[in-house]
Amino acid sequence: MARERIITPKEVKEDVPSEDSNLFSGSPVNVRPKSLDEYLGQSELLQRLGIALDAAKKRDDPMEHVLLYGPPGLGKTTLAHVIANELGTRAWVTSGPALTKGSDLVGTLTRMEANDVLFIDEIHRLPASVEEYIYPAMEDYKIDFTLDTGMHARVVSYSLKPFTLIGATTRAGLLTGALRSRFGIVHNLRFYNVDELTDILEQAAKKLEGVCVHKDALRTIASRSRGTPRIALRLLRRVRDYAEVRCGGDFSDAVVNAALALEGIDEVGMDSLDRTYMETIETIYDGGPVGVEAVAASMGEDAGTLQDVVEPYLLQAGFLARTRQGRQITSKGHEWLNAGKNST
Ligand code: ADP
Repeated sequence: MARERIITPKEVKEDVPSEDSNLFSGSPVNVRPKSLDEYLGQSELLQRLGIALDAAKKRDDPMEHVLLYGPPGLGKTTLAHVIANELGTRAWVTSGPALTKGSDLVGTLTRMEANDVLFIDEIHRLPASVEEYIYPAMEDYKIDFTLDTGMHARVVSYSLKPFTLIGATTRAGLLTGALRSRFGIVHNLRFYNVDELTDILEQAAKKLEGVCVHKDALRTIASRSRGTPRIALRLLRRVRDYAEVRCGGDFSDAVVNAALALEGIDEVGMDSLDRTYMETIETIYDGGPVGVEAVAASMGEDAGTLQDVVEPYLLQAGFLARTRQGRQITSKGHEWLNAGKNST
């Protein structure tokens, strides 16, 4: 079982905004971007989407199907809502694990209006039967379903209104070639740099009534957020709570440092799970190379969780390398581990 960590990029309850929440109710304000202008960073993707959106609007056609892949928290769901908003249509949201058979989609597909967006999160977890069911829906906007059973069974074809499917996955490699090839736009979302995250935090802070923060404080939060907007926004809320309770609302750089130290997050945004992962490879496997399953077994963690939420940022930060023989700590990773030991 994964331990609960404040820097998990996966969505947790405190991240889910409610429309009527406000700064003082304890639940997050809805700071989700609504238009392409508010969606910051990912410039190449936005350019590609901008062109596809304009073309679709001009022809009054649905937009091409889009496959977004990358670690959790980088803005895949947000983008699906933004695209629907830009098209002036609605986004219908579901996920691979929620769809166990093709007929689970019938209700949604038949209710969708022209040019609506269907967002399927974790699309790599769609069962094969559902996958086959959506091929004709994606290609010809029609679905087949079977009426009656036994010798009276007959297949009926139903025409759908044209729509755009947006699939999101953290594991593009697990997608079948057949499904992947049916998307017109396939894009890998990358981690955000500190400037982009600072802009995202600034935009969100403006929407949070009563929060007045210095830009350097936001920059410090951004630099500890593992390149992930979801983590940056969560840290912003935690620091705000700390500032309110301990410092009468003073939101300076020093307060950010104190608040994040209390949460166990170091100056590069790593926490105890990252450290345990790296120390396991260092002490038990002599720095690697070692397979992720072996590390997971030694730590008592799930290998999938390590792959989804721990490794991507360690790889991106250059602390870890993925070789043919397995995971290996880099010299930068060794330096970080040693610096941590010396400071304790
Ligand atoms: P994913 O679907 O990839 O797990 P989400 O779309 O749920 O990630 O994004 C997590 C949070 O980060 C959202 O609440 C959204 O407000 C914020 N966010 C993500 N990407 C951006 C962006 N490019 N600009 C502004 N805010 C963003």
